[in-house]
Amino acid sequence: MKFNKGNSLFKRMLNKVPIIFTKQYDHTFGGLEEIHPFDSEKYGKIYNYLVKKVGIDKKRFYTPEMASKEDLLFIHSKEYLSALNHSETIARIAELKVLSSVPNDILQNCLLKSVKYATGGTIKGCVLAFEYGWAINLSGGYHHAKADSGGGFCFFADIPIAVYKLFNNNNTLSIMIIDLDAHQGNGNASIFKNDNRIHIFDVYNERIYPGDFEAKKYIEFGYPVMSHIKDLDYLSLLEREIPDAIRKSKPDIIIYIAGTDIFKEDTLGCMNISEGGIIERDELVFRNAVKNKIPILMVLGGGYSKDSAIITAKSIENILKNVIIF
Ligand SMILES: [Zn+2]
Repeated sequence: MKFNKGNSLFKRMLNKVPIIFTKQYDHTFGGLEEIHPFDSEKYGKIYNYLVKKVGIDKKRFYTPEMASKEDLLFIHSKEYLSALNHSETIARIAELKVLSSVPNDILQNCLLKSVKYATGGTIKGCVLAFEYGWAINLSGGYHHAKADSGGGFCFFADIPIAVYKLFNNNNTLSIMIIDLDAHQGNGNASIFKNDNRIHIFDVYNERIYPGDFEAKKYIEFGYPVMSHIKDLDYLSLLEREIPDAIRKSKPDIIIYIAGTDIFKEDTLGCMNISEGGIIERDELVFRNAVKNKIPILMVLGGGYSKDSAIITAKSIENILKNVIIF
């Protein structure tokens, strides 16, 4: 996707860039980082890097709307949404027992609101990906959330919600999810299990959470890998298998979960991929989409090391400078 100055797409990009962000993405729950390895300011740090180091004017970002209850009901049951009115449910999904004693309205405001904005960002990202050929939501990728339950810090199934909103306009779309977060995307696989319009490509560490053997049956292109896999083996697998999966799926859009919990210093992912390996991985996925002229939306997924934000920021910079030619 090279643009030149006579190109109308280039002119449009002078105004807006299909990267979606709001300050609401960061969890404002004070002290969360002390009881969970997650960097609660991760999303804002990536945004700041893109503004200050890459030089993207703040006005050029897209802002998401918060997903409405109606949006959430596209996928989730009423019973599940009601259960989130109890702090115990939120504590269980966040795997933080201490949250069960926090008043529910505080958790709704400080935690669930950010996930609703992230879900709104993924919804918007799908639309922008069709418009621009690519888009990046600086949050999202909650791939453990199922229709009637959450898990692994995932409350709402942002990708399935966005996908079913796309189906509202065109129900024959073929959708490919490339899930390269370290964890198995069991929520997405479970939600899409009977839908042959969705093609899931999932590379995950099979020795860690969630170990969902039922959901594993519904991954079309599944590649469980061992703990501590290194760059060469990991990248060779992607280089070999992604083009083939794209050929077989013929997707109209790729939704890419670019989890950085594959990083060697991530305590939850237990993989051994370097910063350079992650940047190369993201470039490889984007190049495959661009080469095949398939719109791509990237969402961030997991990433729990202190370096997660800067690695993602540098990787997006690399994509903008070397693949999209921004
Ligand atoms: Zn993960």
